[in-house]
Amino acid sequence: MRIHVLASGSTGNSTLLQAGKTNILIDAGISARAITAKLEQLGVKAAGLAAVFITHEHQDHIQGLKVLLKKSGATVFTRPDTGNFMRRMDLIPEGRLQTIEKAVHIDDLQAECFPVSHDALDPVGYTFTRRGEKAVIMTDLGRLDDSLAQAAADADVIVMESNFDPRLLKEGPYPPFLKKRISGPRGHLSNTEAGEFLCAVPKKSHLKVFLAHLSRYNNTLPLAKYTVSQVLFENGADLYNQVSLFPTYPMKTVSLKF
Ligand SMILES: [Zn+2]
Ligand SMILES: [Zn+2]
Repeated sequence: MRIHVLASGSTGNSTLLQAGKTNILIDAGISARAITAKLEQLGVKAAGLAAVFITHEHQDHIQGLKVLLKKSGATVFTRPDTGNFMRRMDLIPEGRLQTIEKAVHIDDLQAECFPVSHDALDPVGYTFTRRGEKAVIMTDLGRLDDSLAQAAADADVIVMESNFDPRLLKEGPYPPFLKKRISGPRGHLSNTEAGEFLCAVPKKSHLKVFLAHLSRYNNTLPLAKYTVSQVLFENGADLYNQVSLFPTYPMKTVSLKF
Protein backbone atom coordinates (compact mmCIF):
# COMPACT_ATOMS: atom_id res chain seq x y z
CA MET A 1 0.00 0.00 0.00
CA ARG A 2 0.95 3.63 -0.27
CA ILE A 3 -0.11 6.40 2.05
CA HIS A 4 0.02 10.11 1.30
CA VAL A 5 -0.72 12.59 4.07
CA LEU A 6 -1.99 15.45 1.89
CA ALA A 7 -2.58 17.90 4.73
CA SER A 8 -2.41 17.71 8.50
CA GLY A 9 -2.98 20.14 11.36
CA SER A 10 -5.60 22.39 12.88
CA THR A 11 -6.16 24.06 9.50
CA GLY A 12 -7.20 20.87 7.71
CA ASN A 13 -6.65 17.13 7.43
CA SER A 14 -6.77 14.74 4.50
CA THR A 15 -4.94 11.50 3.70
CA LEU A 16 -4.94 9.34 0.57
CA LEU A 17 -4.49 5.58 0.93
CA GLN A 18 -3.70 3.51 -2.16
CA ALA A 19 -4.29 -0.20 -1.82
CA GLY A 20 -3.52 -1.80 -5.15
CA LYS A 21 -5.81 -0.01 -7.58
CA THR A 22 -8.17 1.16 -4.84
CA ASN A 23 -7.88 4.81 -3.84
CA ILE A 24 -9.57 6.02 -0.69
CA LEU A 25 -9.48 9.31 1.12
CA ILE A 26 -9.62 9.72 4.88
CA ASP A 27 -11.13 13.11 5.79
CA ALA A 28 -11.58 16.03 3.43
CA GLY A 29 -10.62 18.94 5.67
CA ILE A 30 -8.95 21.18 3.09
CA SER A 31 -10.63 22.75 0.06
CA ALA A 32 -11.82 20.43 -2.71
CA ARG A 33 -9.64 22.40 -5.09
CA ALA A 34 -6.54 21.69 -2.99
CA ILE A 35 -7.46 18.01 -2.59
CA THR A 36 -8.03 17.62 -6.34
CA ALA A 37 -4.74 19.34 -7.18
CA LYS A 38 -2.83 17.19 -4.71
CA LEU A 39 -4.45 14.02 -6.03
CA GLU A 40 -3.55 14.98 -9.59
CA GLN A 41 0.10 15.43 -8.57
CA LEU A 42 -0.06 11.80 -7.49
CA GLY A 43 -1.73 10.71 -10.73
CA VAL A 44 -5.12 10.15 -9.07
CA LYS A 45 -8.35 11.72 -10.29
CA ALA A 46 -11.03 12.74 -7.79
CA ALA A 47 -13.42 10.74 -9.97
CA GLY A 48 -11.24 7.69 -9.28
CA LEU A 49 -11.75 7.75 -5.50
CA ALA A 50 -13.68 4.69 -4.31
CA ALA A 51 -14.54 6.06 -0.89
CA VAL A 52 -14.09 8.90 1.56
CA PHE A 53 -13.93 7.95 5.25
CA ILE A 54 -14.81 10.71 7.71
CA THR A 55 -13.49 10.55 11.27
CA HIS A 56 -15.75 13.27 12.74
CA GLU A 57 -17.68 16.38 11.79
CA HIS A 58 -15.24 19.16 12.75
CA GLN A 59 -14.47 21.64 9.98
CA ASP A 60 -10.80 20.67 9.74
CA HIS A 61 -11.96 17.20 8.62
CA ILE A 62 -14.91 17.92 6.32
CA GLN A 63 -14.66 21.43 4.85
CA GLY A 64 -13.83 20.25 1.31
CA LEU A 65 -16.30 17.36 1.26
CA LYS A 66 -19.36 18.94 -0.33
CA VAL A 67 -17.53 20.29 -3.38
CA LEU A 68 -15.32 17.19 -3.67
CA LEU A 69 -18.44 15.02 -3.98
CA LYS A 70 -19.49 17.01 -7.02
CA LYS A 71 -16.28 15.91 -8.76
CA SER A 72 -16.20 12.39 -7.38
CA GLY A 73 -18.73 9.58 -7.17
CA ALA A 74 -17.05 8.22 -4.03
CA THR A 75 -19.17 6.72 -1.29
CA VAL A 76 -18.84 8.45 2.08
CA PHE A 77 -18.35 6.16 5.07
CA THR A 78 -18.81 7.40 8.60
CA ARG A 79 -20.61 6.73 11.88
CA PRO A 80 -24.43 7.15 11.89
CA ASP A 81 -24.58 10.34 14.02
CA THR A 82 -21.78 11.97 12.02
CA GLY A 83 -23.54 10.98 8.79
CA ASN A 84 -26.87 12.41 9.95
CA PHE A 85 -25.18 15.68 10.85
CA MET A 86 -23.52 15.93 7.44
CA ARG A 87 -26.81 15.09 5.71
CA ARG A 88 -28.59 17.83 7.65
CA MET A 89 -25.84 20.22 6.55
CA ASP A 90 -26.52 19.10 2.98
CA LEU A 91 -22.91 18.00 2.46
CA ILE A 92 -23.63 14.59 0.95
CA PRO A 93 -25.82 13.88 -2.11
CA GLU A 94 -28.68 11.40 -1.74
CA GLY A 95 -27.59 7.77 -1.77
CA ARG A 96 -23.89 8.44 -1.32
CA LEU A 97 -23.65 7.94 2.44
CA GLN A 98 -22.98 4.57 4.04
CA THR A 99 -22.79 4.35 7.78
CA ILE A 100 -20.19 2.09 9.26
CA GLU A 101 -20.90 0.01 12.34
CA LYS A 102 -17.60 -1.76 12.69
CA ALA A 103 -16.02 -2.93 9.41
CA VAL A 104 -16.50 -2.61 5.65
CA HIS A 105 -14.72 -4.08 2.66
CA ILE A 106 -13.73 -2.11 -0.40
CA ASP A 107 -12.22 -4.46 -2.97
CA ASP A 108 -9.64 -6.42 -0.94
CA LEU A 109 -9.18 -3.65 1.61
CA GLN A 110 -10.79 -4.05 5.02
CA ALA A 111 -11.61 -0.85 6.90
CA GLU A 112 -12.56 -0.81 10.57
CA CYS A 113 -13.48 2.07 12.82
CA PHE A 114 -12.73 2.40 16.51
CA PRO A 115 -14.06 5.02 18.97
CA VAL A 116 -11.84 7.84 20.20
CA SER A 117 -12.39 10.38 22.97
CA HIS A 118 -12.92 13.81 21.40
CA ASP A 119 -15.56 16.55 21.58
CA ALA A 120 -17.52 15.51 18.49
CA LEU A 121 -20.74 13.51 17.93
CA ASP A 122 -19.19 10.07 17.49
CA PRO A 123 -15.52 10.45 16.58
CA VAL A 124 -13.51 7.47 15.35
CA GLY A 125 -10.12 6.41 14.06
CA TYR A 126 -9.71 3.88 11.26
CA THR A 127 -7.60 0.85 10.55
CA PHE A 128 -7.08 -0.36 6.98
CA THR A 129 -5.72 -3.84 6.35
CA ARG A 130 -4.87 -5.68 3.16
CA ARG A 131 -2.78 -8.83 2.73
CA GLY A 132 -1.27 -8.54 6.21
CA GLU A 133 -0.40 -4.87 5.86
CA LYS A 134 -2.03 -2.38 8.17
CA ALA A 135 -2.35 1.39 8.26
CA VAL A 136 -3.98 3.27 11.14
CA ILE A 137 -5.34 6.81 11.23
CA MET A 138 -5.73 8.20 14.73
CA THR A 139 -5.94 11.94 15.28
CA ASP A 140 -8.11 14.11 17.53
CA LEU A 141 -7.59 12.02 20.64
CA GLY A 142 -8.40 13.45 24.05
CA ARG A 143 -7.35 10.44 26.02
CA LEU A 144 -5.54 7.17 25.45
CA ASP A 145 -6.75 3.80 26.62
CA ASP A 146 -6.02 0.13 26.00
CA SER A 147 -8.62 -0.15 23.25
CA LEU A 148 -6.62 2.31 21.13
CA ALA A 149 -3.40 0.34 21.59
CA GLN A 150 -5.31 -2.77 20.56
CA ALA A 151 -6.77 -1.08 17.48
CA ALA A 152 -3.30 0.08 16.42
CA ALA A 153 -1.52 -3.18 17.28
CA ASP A 154 0.88 -4.61 14.67
CA ALA A 155 0.45 -1.66 12.32
CA ASP A 156 2.98 -0.94 9.58
CA VAL A 157 2.06 2.75 9.54
CA ILE A 158 0.26 4.98 12.03
CA VAL A 159 -0.83 8.53 11.31
CA MET A 160 -0.69 9.60 14.93
CA GLU A 161 -1.71 12.83 16.57
CA SER A 162 1.05 14.74 18.35
CA ASN A 163 -0.87 17.95 18.82
CA PHE A 164 0.74 20.17 21.42
CA ASP A 165 3.61 20.86 23.74
CA PRO A 166 2.19 21.50 27.24
CA ARG A 167 4.53 24.44 27.94
CA LEU A 168 3.77 26.17 24.64
CA LEU A 169 0.06 25.62 25.24
CA LYS A 170 0.28 27.01 28.78
CA GLU A 171 2.27 30.09 27.75
CA GLY A 172 0.56 30.52 24.38
CA PRO A 173 -2.11 32.94 23.14
CA TYR A 174 -5.23 30.78 23.59
CA PRO A 175 -7.92 31.79 26.11
CA PRO A 176 -8.10 29.61 29.25
CA PHE A 177 -11.26 27.72 28.17
CA LEU A 178 -9.60 26.67 24.92
CA LYS A 179 -6.40 25.60 26.68
CA LYS A 180 -8.54 23.49 28.97
CA ARG A 181 -10.44 21.99 26.05
CA ILE A 182 -7.30 21.08 24.11
CA SER A 183 -5.52 19.38 27.00
CA GLY A 184 -8.75 17.85 28.36
CA PRO A 185 -10.01 14.27 27.97
CA ARG A 186 -12.02 15.13 24.82
CA GLY A 187 -9.45 17.39 23.21
CA HIS A 188 -6.06 16.56 21.77
CA LEU A 189 -2.89 14.60 22.54
CA SER A 190 0.41 16.09 23.68
CA ASN A 191 3.78 15.12 22.21
CA THR A 192 4.67 13.19 25.36
CA GLU A 193 1.39 11.27 25.31
CA ALA A 194 1.97 10.39 21.66
CA GLY A 195 5.41 9.04 22.58
CA GLU A 196 4.02 7.04 25.48
CA PHE A 197 1.40 5.53 23.23
CA LEU A 198 4.05 4.47 20.71
CA CYS A 199 5.97 2.76 23.53
CA ALA A 200 2.90 0.84 24.62
CA VAL A 201 1.40 -0.24 21.29
CA PRO A 202 2.17 -3.87 20.31
CA LYS A 203 4.59 -3.67 17.39
CA LYS A 204 5.77 -5.56 14.35
CA SER A 205 9.54 -5.41 13.84
CA HIS A 206 9.33 -1.92 12.41
CA LEU A 207 6.72 0.81 12.76
CA LYS A 208 6.50 3.97 10.68
CA VAL A 209 4.74 6.90 12.31
CA PHE A 210 3.56 10.18 10.87
CA LEU A 211 3.46 12.83 13.60
CA ALA A 212 0.16 14.44 12.68
CA HIS A 213 -2.35 17.15 13.54
CA LEU A 214 0.30 19.45 15.02
CA SER A 215 -1.06 22.63 16.54
CA ARG A 216 0.00 25.74 14.70
CA TYR A 217 0.55 27.79 17.85
CA ASN A 218 1.23 25.23 20.53
CA ASN A 219 3.76 22.99 18.82
CA THR A 220 6.56 22.83 16.27
CA LEU A 221 7.63 19.90 14.14
CA PRO A 222 11.19 19.76 15.63
CA LEU A 223 9.75 19.86 19.14
CA ALA A 224 7.22 17.09 18.42
CA LYS A 225 9.91 14.93 16.84
CA TYR A 226 12.37 15.58 19.66
CA THR A 227 9.87 14.89 22.44
CA VAL A 228 8.48 11.69 20.92
CA SER A 229 12.04 10.43 20.16
CA GLN A 230 13.07 11.23 23.71
CA VAL A 231 10.18 9.25 25.19
CA LEU A 232 10.99 6.30 22.91
CA PHE A 233 14.68 6.49 23.81
CA GLU A 234 14.04 6.69 27.54
CA ASN A 235 12.00 3.52 27.26
CA GLY A 236 14.78 1.57 25.54
CA ALA A 237 17.20 1.93 22.65
CA ASP A 238 15.55 -1.03 20.84
CA LEU A 239 12.26 0.75 20.89
CA TYR A 240 13.92 3.88 19.56
CA ASN A 241 15.29 1.89 16.60
CA GLN A 242 12.01 0.09 16.03
CA VAL A 243 10.02 3.23 15.31
CA SER A 244 10.68 5.71 12.47
CA LEU A 245 9.10 9.13 12.71
CA PHE A 246 7.92 11.08 9.67
CA PRO A 247 6.77 14.69 9.48
CA THR A 248 3.45 16.03 8.28
CA TYR A 249 2.68 19.56 7.12
CA PRO A 250 -0.41 21.79 6.92
CA MET A 251 -0.29 21.79 3.13
CA LYS A 252 2.69 19.73 1.87
CA THR A 253 2.12 16.09 0.90
CA VAL A 254 4.28 13.41 2.55
CA SER A 255 4.22 9.94 0.95
CA LEU A 256 5.29 6.51 2.13
CA LYS A 257 5.24 3.05 0.60
CA PHE A 258 4.85 0.06 2.89
ZN1 LIG B 1 -11.72 17.52 15.95
ZN1 LIG C 1 -9.02 17.90 13.91
